[in-house]
Amino acid sequence: DKILHIVGGGMAGSEAAWQAASAGIPVVIHEMRPVVGTFAHRTGNLAEMVCSNSFRSDDDEQNAVGLLHWEMRQAGGLIMETAARHRLPAGGALAVDRDPFSQDITDRLRAHPLVQISGEEITELPDQGHWIFATGPLTSGNLAEAIRAETGADSLAFFDAIAPIVYADSIDMSVAWKQSRYDKGETEEERRAYINCPMTREDYEAFIDALMVADKTVFHEGETAGYFDGCLPIEVMAERGRETLRHGPMKPVGLTNAHNPTEKPYAVVQLRQDNALGTLYNIVGFQTKMKYGAQTNVFKMIPGLQDASFARLGGIHRNTFINSPTLLDNKMRLKSRPNIRFAGQITGVEGYVESSAMGLLASRLAIAEMQGRSLPEVPNTTAMGALMHHITGGADAKTFQPMNVNFGLFPPIDAKGGRRGRAARYKAYTDRAKADWLAWLATA
Ligand code: FAD
Repeated sequence: DKILHIVGGGMAGSEAAWQAASAGIPVVIHEMRPVVGTFAHRTGNLAEMVCSNSFRSDDDEQNAVGLLHWEMRQAGGLIMETAARHRLPAGGALAVDRDPFSQDITDRLRAHPLVQISGEEITELPDQGHWIFATGPLTSGNLAEAIRAETGADSLAFFDAIAPIVYADSIDMSVAWKQSRYDKGETEEERRAYINCPMTREDYEAFIDALMVADKTVFHEGETAGYFDGCLPIEVMAERGRETLRHGPMKPVGLTNAHNPTEKPYAVVQLRQDNALGTLYNIVGFQTKMKYGAQTNVFKMIPGLQDASFARLGGIHRNTFINSPTLLDNKMRLKSRPNIRFAGQITGVEGYVESSAMGLLASRLAIAEMQGRSLPEVPNTTAMGALMHHITGGADAKTFQPMNVNFGLFPPIDAKGGRRGRAARYKAYTDRAKADWLAWLATA
């Protein structure tokens, strides 16, 4: 049992395999393609980029994604190293020539003496051995069935329904106020758990008009829209009738505008705290298929959000993911079967970069365990640690939805020292992260 088995040779699985093989641990990658396909992958190659060819921002001083790039590079990450070799001009973004990129990853892993690639679909959760499951957003149906049997139906989702997330400090609290509907809650904190944004009739009508005409994305072929019963996009609700939202997520009942108690709002948009740190709030019920540009325009029409800055925008996709906050421990192990780790998008992170990063981290944790070393906690001040601690504990399990890396996940810096400019604050986050990541890596 000195072999590490990795299920899925996508972004996370390829990175995990490389890390382990580089540490001298024999690896078997179990990858079902091309024997069994998905609706999005076109080839049998490892680490295939199914849609965009970009790893997003490469700015490691001002951007949390760029910081994740940097942290992976320091750890000898295969995805980043290969991306650099196939880089295309894309301004500040790290874009690559996708086919040579995944061909190169495939060739390098195939050529590695400690890596074996087995072309099979895994359909069970094994009792024995060391395993990392990194089967991604399009995990095969048979395996999803086995995972569901282990975790329970409520802990495995097949679609995400992501409401936009706003940085708390960008909400205008001279317009918005804190209150739970009907002041419900045991504690003062619970009675003030929501941030409310009031709308007049004119605000509401203009908002509905903007929703109707906004640019939307459509589902990919094969990505059936089975989500429709549970989680309607707001624009679809609006299309069903102009008043639907006012009777749904935007209903104004049980709320009194703290800034103007005598005037009843015509509609209210509610935001709910999204992380334990209280730095992020999501707009309740606002999952959407509007394009990103359209979303920022439309959501900034909401009084109180006119200057909002978004940690992530909304979306709805076919996406298989588990309820990591309840299922995984902070070493990314399945609590009910600690011989199994999960990594990549199936853990509830989103995107090529975040998925590769969680593959790298899960592998480092597995390697240490297999070598009988105990590691210090992954610091939550690093991009890696912030993301991992969010999915395995910081996020609210009841409303858990996939997350991108962003500075709202980091413990706030300089809380007492007053407001720094945003650029200085982000630089302080990335400086702290780099120092803490190097220190942790030295032990890993
Ligand atoms: P994947 O890269 O999907 O790898 C999982 C691997 O597991 C696959 O190779 C699959 O064949 C294999 N597998 C599945 N089940 C089994 C099984 N039972 N046995 C063996 N092997 C199995 N992210 C972006 O950053 N930018 C985008 O533009 C973007 N667009 C996307 C568009 C679509 C349609 C989809 C579905 C996803 C998109 N994503 C995008 C998300 C992106 O695909 C993931 O973030 C990333 O690929 C996840 O990495 P992963 O390793 O977790 O999963």
